[in-house]
Amino acid sequence: MLVNTKKMLEEFHHSPHALPSPDFFNLDTLKCHIEVAEELNMPLLLAFADALQGYGLDIEEAAMLGKIYGEKASVPVALHLDHGSTAEVCKRAADLGFTSVMIDASSEEFEENVRRTKEVVDYCHPLGVTVEAEIGHVGQGSEFVDASKNDNVYTDVEECKKFVELTGIDSVAISIGTAHGAYKGTPVINFERLQEIRKAVDIPLVLHGGSSSGDDNLKKCGELGISKINIFTDIVTRGFEIYKAGNAKSLMDLSVDAHNGMKEVLRHYYNLLAR
Ligand SMILES: [Zn+2]
Repeated sequence: MLVNTKKMLEEFHHSPHALPSPDFFNLDTLKCHIEVAEELNMPLLLAFADALQGYGLDIEEAAMLGKIYGEKASVPVALHLDHGSTAEVCKRAADLGFTSVMIDASSEEFEENVRRTKEVVDYCHPLGVTVEAEIGHVGQGSEFVDASKNDNVYTDVEECKKFVELTGIDSVAISIGTAHGAYKGTPVINFERLQEIRKAVDIPLVLHGGSSSGDDNLKKCGELGISKINIFTDIVTRGFEIYKAGNAKSLMDLSVDAHNGMKEVLRHYYNLLAR
């Protein structure tokens, strides 16, 4: 069944577990994620990234497929827009039937981040669509800076509290040392900052850039107050490795092998983080 993320994350907000949230960009990745969630009987926060439009699906096609497969799934599925870059794309996603959106204005100044996020909240909440936003910017792994040497990289506790109050968002993505994509080095996670934010803010906390952050690090993040962890790079990297190995005898076999390889990665993260 198709649901929004409000109730789904509430459960993880009050437990030492976190829900891994995978992105899909075509029908194959969508089906991978649904199959794993059904097999483990876990809820699925199925995300489609604005930036992945064009790798197989546009936002309209992602909405159509997400709704069809979400409705017929045996577990709760939320169809989430990941990293909506403008208020417009978030509103369009809500109109198309996404049950959850993320507006990412985290690289803007505080006031502009608040303004843009509030605009999305005001539009989405009456439609029953939940809203995630980000405060403190989670950058790319390729431009990764050692956050332990630069405090500005981390989300500020007071700013986060104010941001949540002013916007009325349902969940908040924070920056505590992870980055998107593959890392140059191993990330240094600021667990202390995480605990401070968890104490100050009483809505589910989200961690972006979960891939390759280390199993122990991610598990600890879940235990200390993160409710949802975004995982994408590790899943598609595994699929790509299988393609590159070239052991299959046909394109059909290759697709099946890659499909099963990607499922293994998501299964691993569910088992590590969510139960
Ligand atoms: Zn992200």
